[in-house]
Amino acid sequence: MEPVVKIDQEKCTACYACVRSCPVKAIKVEPDRPAPMIIPDRCIGCGNCHAACGEDAIIIRDGKTDLRKLLKQGEEVTALLDPSIAGEFPDITDYRKFVSMVRKLGFRFVNEVAFGVELVAAEYRKLVDDSKGKYYLFSNCPISVMYVEKYKPELTRNLAPIMPPVVATARVVRQKYGNDMRVAYISPLIASKQEAVRLAEDEKIDAVLTFIELRELFSEYKIDEKNLEYSEFDNPIGYLGSLFPLSSGILEAAGIEQRVLSSKVITVEGDLVFDSIREFEEDITTIKSHFNIFYKEFIMGRGTSPNARKWLRRSQLIRYLNKREKTFDQEAHDKALLEYSGIGLTRSFRNDDQRMEAPPAEEVEKIQAELRKHGDQERGCGACGYRSCHEFAVAIAQGLAVPEMCNFYASRNTMDHIQSLKISNEKLAQAQVALKESEQIAQKEKESAREASEITRTMLQKLPSAVVILDETLKVIQANESLIGLLGEEAMEINEVVPGLTGADLKTLLPYNIHNLFTYVLANNENITDRDILLNEKQYSISVFVIRKQKIVGAVIRDLSAPEVQKEEIVKRLTDVVDKNLSLVQQIGFILGEGASETERMLNSIIESYKPKK
Ligand code: SF4
Ligand code: SF4
Repeated sequence: MEPVVKIDQEKCTACYACVRSCPVKAIKVEPDRPAPMIIPDRCIGCGNCHAACGEDAIIIRDGKTDLRKLLKQGEEVTALLDPSIAGEFPDITDYRKFVSMVRKLGFRFVNEVAFGVELVAAEYRKLVDDSKGKYYLFSNCPISVMYVEKYKPELTRNLAPIMPPVVATARVVRQKYGNDMRVAYISPLIASKQEAVRLAEDEKIDAVLTFIELRELFSEYKIDEKNLEYSEFDNPIGYLGSLFPLSSGILEAAGIEQRVLSSKVITVEGDLVFDSIREFEEDITTIKSHFNIFYKEFIMGRGTSPNARKWLRRSQLIRYLNKREKTFDQEAHDKALLEYSGIGLTRSFRNDDQRMEAPPAEEVEKIQAELRKHGDQERGCGACGYRSCHEFAVAIAQGLAVPEMCNFYASRNTMDHIQSLKISNEKLAQAQVALKESEQIAQKEKESAREASEITRTMLQKLPSAVVILDETLKVIQANESLIGLLGEEAMEINEVVPGLTGADLKTLLPYNIHNLFTYVLANNENITDRDILLNEKQYSISVFVIRKQKIVGAVIRDLSAPEVQKEEIVKRLTDVVDKNLSLVQQIGFILGEGASETERMLNSIIESYKPKK
């Protein structure tokens, strides 16, 4: 089932006003998730968060939908009207018009919860008169009851075992109209929705509408008192039970003594309720009083229109009661009380302990130290929603809060953040300048490289020797004109379409024994120098060399029949002969003396004569 209260994560602006307003810390804030979340099991339905949120981000479960569903199914539904209604609708001139308006919504019967109050009040009277030395916390306020069940479960045995007035009224209605009768409670409290969830069978409340929702329905269905006749509440009607919305109203209805000197009951309302429950727990043997507790007086419940004036509402309530008095039939009323006195009004409570384990002291101290960072003193300002920095640190350790909820911590972190942003910005500016300079240098280098590449390419083309550069798949990266000429007609035709034979497969251009040399060099990263090859019946010398290991190879192929190559080759080969003979000559020099030097001179002169003329 949908929780009664939840947060619209889209609308929430993470201001934490709701967290601060929650009296039982049922709203948690998780790291890395700015919007808080309500923990349904911890919530007591007080509605403070709803009132505190300026963004309309707290969603209360919609009772109108439940009611519409009931009416649509053709169910007979009785409206149970809380007596606080008299303070909520001063704009409706006569309560009988108001009853007509409610009927107009589709309700079969309209009954007063004030009658249930009177049945319950009689039980309280008996309890107070004969408590046998035991003291009770009155259980009419669902918020206070849920608080005890969840946060003071040991005290559930001190909750008065008397059912709430609305449940008593639901039983009356079902006794009168049968168990199939559906009931909808029109309540001043959001907590009534939470309370209704746990009721079943003849206690069941099928729908709960707040007064605010009732107004919305009137407006939606355009129901206006001007167009309606008077109508009375259905029997049994109430009288003094109508005072129930005031915190001491139940005592008045029960006729319980209220004089300070002699009363056995203390009435507490508002935030003081939680402190009073603690005092009850600790000091009841000295206090010796029952506690009539209301966290929220019904007349000002969170389900009523906001921004209302309490004393104005109170006066409206009293005026309403006085008006009812004029037509009040005491005899019929007493008869009805007698008739329904046997419906059974006892109730039980559950232990729904939601207290959390205290975290280890060292962990809390560590968190407090972090909150006090940079020598700050603990402020205990309460802006986080906790009464002290210690309580706040405990909540952080329990996973209910995050340090950022502390204004001082957050602002200090923001300042640190701004400072580090400033430093980062400066570094960024320096980096930008350096980057710009690098870009300029890179641009210049790129231009130089392009020029160098252009020059190299041109030089390559002009070389008399054939040159080819290949990738690792033996595809041509670049080939010069000499190579193309050497390969013949077919290569020249390709060159016209693809200049430099770029992308051509060497295997289709050269026979196996030659392109195999390239494969060898690529695989072994070992150069081959001056290897003689026969191509197109001509003698060539080929050198294959590594340009980039296993990626790029190059080759120079020289035509040995070209005159300049012939000369060069003879010089080279004679040089080799000289080098090879030199050691031999040196060895036999000892034997031949001057003869060896003469031989070297002769060979050198032959070499010189073959060298190209400068
Ligand atoms: S009050 Fe709560 S729900 Fe509303 S905007 Fe602030 S943090 Fe969000
Ligand atoms: S309804 Fe009350 S108890 Fe529940 S989350 Fe809101 S403030 Fe907390």
